[in-house]
Amino acid sequence: MSTALAQGEIGELAQIVGSEWVLDQREQLLPYAVSLDPAGDCFPATVLRPGSREEVQRIVEVANRRGLSLHPISRGMQHGLGMATAVAPDTVTIELSRMDRILEYDDELGYVVLEPGVTFAQLHRFLEEHGGRYWCSPISGPVEASVLGNALDKGAGYTPVGNHFGNLIGLEVVIGDGRVLTTGDGALPGAKTTYTHKGGCGPMLDALFAQSNYGIVTKAGVWLMPAPPGARGFVFSVPDYDDLGRAVDVAGRLKLTGGIPSTISIANDVFCLAVEAAEPRPMAEPGAAPIDEGELPALREAHGIGAWNVVGCIYGPSETLEARVEKLEQAFAATGPLAYLPEEEARERKAFGYRFDIAKGVPNETELDVYNLHPNGTSLYFLPSVPFRGAEALEAMRLSRLICTEHGFAYTNQFLCSPRSMRNTQPVIFDGGADGAAQRARDCFSELTSRFADSGYLVSRPPTHFQQEVMDGLGLHAELARSVKRAFDPNGVLDPGRFGLSLEDR
Ligand SMILES: Cc1cc2nc3c(=O)[nH]c(=O)nc-3n(C[C@H](O)[C@H](O)[C@H](O)COP(=O)(O)OP(=O)(O)OC[C@H]3O[C@@H](n4cnc5c(N)ncnc54)[C@H](O)[C@@H]3O)c2cc1C
Repeated sequence: MSTALAQGEIGELAQIVGSEWVLDQREQLLPYAVSLDPAGDCFPATVLRPGSREEVQRIVEVANRRGLSLHPISRGMQHGLGMATAVAPDTVTIELSRMDRILEYDDELGYVVLEPGVTFAQLHRFLEEHGGRYWCSPISGPVEASVLGNALDKGAGYTPVGNHFGNLIGLEVVIGDGRVLTTGDGALPGAKTTYTHKGGCGPMLDALFAQSNYGIVTKAGVWLMPAPPGARGFVFSVPDYDDLGRAVDVAGRLKLTGGIPSTISIANDVFCLAVEAAEPRPMAEPGAAPIDEGELPALREAHGIGAWNVVGCIYGPSETLEARVEKLEQAFAATGPLAYLPEEEARERKAFGYRFDIAKGVPNETELDVYNLHPNGTSLYFLPSVPFRGAEALEAMRLSRLICTEHGFAYTNQFLCSPRSMRNTQPVIFDGGADGAAQRARDCFSELTSRFADSGYLVSRPPTHFQQEVMDGLGLHAELARSVKRAFDPNGVLDPGRFGLSLEDR
């Protein structure tokens, strides 16, 4: 596969997209090169910004003929997960942000058809401009991230429809040999149910395009959430780390039985304190955690937060909401000490207010301030899932805390909870400018990954440079995924090595 591109290759690619949409100067490539890997930046050979599916197809055709490696991204805002970089340097990055049209909006059946460049902020604006009948499901990360890119990487949001890949339907995909597939019912020429009925006929191929490198998605349907008549948020805080078990047991039952329809977030004190900080905390000694655990009780008191903070939202007629939140409060309080913050008060706190926006379909990126834990803060996000039960939540907390402490990092975590499992969402935050910090973060992350795997917990969304390591533990699953690669991408031009998938036998 390619190293630096020959002039003839660049010329041919420039003819497809237009020379103004080819980036090949070092300063232009830098934003696409920033890597969390201690090995340093990972520069692409060039970046192409195509404007249509036809251009994407022509690029794929050239890549097959000339043996180039292509790395598709929608907006490249994979904060904490590898940003815009490919597994290896010298790829041709295909950046799809110019393809940012909302192609269809069905206001009866509640779906849109989007190109990959459409952002959360853009979709929210569009829905507001069209009467606000539907909500999108935002993330707590960058508002200019891509709705499709996030879903294709199995991203999650905070509304009741927070499983983002689950909201996709009728994917249009340029596969590795340049042909175009529409998944599901859309495989039938002229199908009228491409965006309304899931499943199609025979095997469901949609799922193959989540976290893979079999194709470049050029449009897809996204199901929306009908805007409810009212919504009300809440925060329930418990005083000690070991109260996590009882809080999770109550929250789990309420989530499964529909008492709390939003994604529930259970954030620890350090996570909230980091977001609250108006500016980066002063640097502790190299190798020491930025907040000493002994300081935490006083900081919790000063900021009015608990050791764990359960944040969620309920929906329905406005006049019913307060009474329903009171019932939730009773359920949590029955298990031990609890502080309840009604939405109006919680909105005053920086660590909580933004969460109500995103649970109500309004993008808000305040959470990026979690990086204020350090000067030049950046992170590797550790995202294993555990069953939604107190005992396993406590096990995950104790293991993570121990490993973070041993490696000199603050235990910074929030559990994002769906009905049966909780995604441990734990940024290992480090000072990106400090010597050796990236290597220490990597070591910590590796140990977290392997010790969690030993305990039966899989990291389902690893950063780019850990994907191979995680897939290597998955036996036949990984082997078959590599075999499938050949059917979609016989010359292996798409993102070689992503999730450990390439044509070379391992
Ligand atoms: C503080 C903070 C909060 C965050 N909160 C959340 C959150 O709530 N939920 C969440 O899910 N994430 C969250 N993130 C992580 C991340 O920022 C988001 O997931 C973001 O949406 C990813 O960037 P993107 O949408 O631009 O996707 P991209 O970077 O464009 O895409 C992600 C990956 O998918 C693949 N891909 C993208 N587009 C295509 C395509 N068209 N065809 C084929 N493959 C493609 C590529 O391999 C790419 O690397 C958070 C990060 C931080 C730092």
